[in-house]
Amino acid sequence: MFSIKSRGGLKWLEASNLNRFPWIVQAFSTRLGGATRASAQGLDLGHAYLPKGSLQEKNRRKFLRALGAESFALSSVHQIHSAEILVVEDAHERLNYLPSGYPYNLEVDGRRISGDALLTALPRVLLTVRTADCIPILLLDSRQRIVGAIHAGWRGALKRIVEKTIGEMRRIFGSRPQDLFVALGPSIRACCYEVGDEVVDAFCGAFVNGEDFFRKISGSGERHITVSGMSFLSMAPPGHASRKGSHLGLDLVAVVKSQLKSAGVPHARIQVADFCTSCRTDLFFSYRKEGSATGRMMTVIGMKE
Ligand SMILES: [Zn+2]
Repeated sequence: MFSIKSRGGLKWLEASNLNRFPWIVQAFSTRLGGATRASAQGLDLGHAYLPKGSLQEKNRRKFLRALGAESFALSSVHQIHSAEILVVEDAHERLNYLPSGYPYNLEVDGRRISGDALLTALPRVLLTVRTADCIPILLLDSRQRIVGAIHAGWRGALKRIVEKTIGEMRRIFGSRPQDLFVALGPSIRACCYEVGDEVVDAFCGAFVNGEDFFRKISGSGERHITVSGMSFLSMAPPGHASRKGSHLGLDLVAVVKSQLKSAGVPHARIQVADFCTSCRTDLFFSYRKEGSATGRMMTVIGMKE
């Protein structure tokens, strides 16, 4: 479903459901290749705003060159674990972003803009998100020719960023959910994503099926999922649940899939890269496993014409 591509010493993943469209550029970077620094061995593609000449900036240029996308307008914003959605409106000279839900055009003018989902109908604009455990999600409406990229960690997923982004695709561009193709890149999976009671409570409060998003992790360090489902919640009355001693892993892929289902995206249109970033630090950066100083992968999508 995902294939590994290689060029110029770099390796990245491409989703086959998006590869059906030759007018699309897409890639989920790995850490293989690129200049390297001590705290992040591999292709660190850094942050939204990179100083010129920095190692990450050089890596980014190398990555874009390998993809044949160096002439695209690069759309990259400060990520804040929000459900803020931005629409790239104008690629001339500088990118103009329209925050969804606002009737006016926002002048960016060199200042940092923030958000966690990007949409555009413009060709030769490369939407990008950076991750090191969070899920990078690419969206394509093949009928209306709209592309999207989402950065979703637990906070953004809790705020329903995926469902809202598809809502905005419908509202702004007239997208139909049945015309969408969606690809979920490598991210930390339930095997390694142990969370505290406050996260469990937050999801169970925000989603009627919130219990379905957690997996019991057996023992510390063993990384085997022995129990799934809702039994852990029925052990105490509401408000008195004690889950002490149980290790619960958040299944972010399940959260995203649930939102895609709610939004009406057919199951067959969704592809998930079968990699846990924390289990596979040979291939990917993991914030949870390696700490905040580790590198960032970049996921990109754009239309050639
Ligand atoms: Zn894992």
